[in-house]
Amino acid sequence: MIKINRTYTPKALSKTNKEFKLAIAGMSTKDAYDFYNAHKKVYYYNTAETKRHFKKMNHERCSFCTKFIQDFEDEMTVEHIRTKRRYPQMIFQWSNLLCACRTCNTKRSTRAHDSRKYLDPAKIVDIERYFSYKLDGTIAAGRELDSIEKEKAEYMIELYRLNREGLVCKRREFMRDLMSEDGFYEELKKMDTSSQNIIFLSVFAYYRRCKEKYGE
Ligand SMILES: [Zn+2]
Repeated sequence: MIKINRTYTPKALSKTNKEFKLAIAGMSTKDAYDFYNAHKKVYYYNTAETKRHFKKMNHERCSFCTKFIQDFEDEMTVEHIRTKRRYPQMIFQWSNLLCACRTCNTKRSTRAHDSRKYLDPAKIVDIERYFSYKLDGTIAAGRELDSIEKEKAEYMIELYRLNREGLVCKRREFMRDLMSEDGFYEELKKMDTSSQNIIFLSVFAYYRRCKEKYGE
């Protein structure tokens, strides 16, 4: 996972949020959720404007596995940090929404949100510190975390199944490509003892910085 800079609230979403909250005022959680399901054609969050915001703030990547989403318009899904069923009042709240690839979204399914452990990439400035990557392509909790932080990282890895086979394979290939660059891996090792902690987007940033500094 990498840090995401959240944009301001999409205008239409802000309006829908207000209207929906007004409509469900005084209802029980169950009734509010049922009301949402019965009115999905009236109230919706995945508008063209919302997609534009996600595209910009996520650089077309999944908030969890950081994979590039090829056909962003069609393939991007909206992930509710606090699930719709348990928190219907937050269905249209911008801060509760993140974009995800279809697989991450499906892997979590409707599993409940644990506020003590959930790492929101739009809120945690140093989220990259929470994870480390091994040469075999697996992701693990960062090496310098305390026990509470470690628990959070492991929770996120499990919640979104970030060690699923496809991702592990891709990361492993990526590490292999990176290491096959002549001398580059040696440079990385010299510069940063945690150089294995880099992958996907974070690795690109790191890679660019190194190239600028050391040239080809
Ligand atoms: Zn994903």
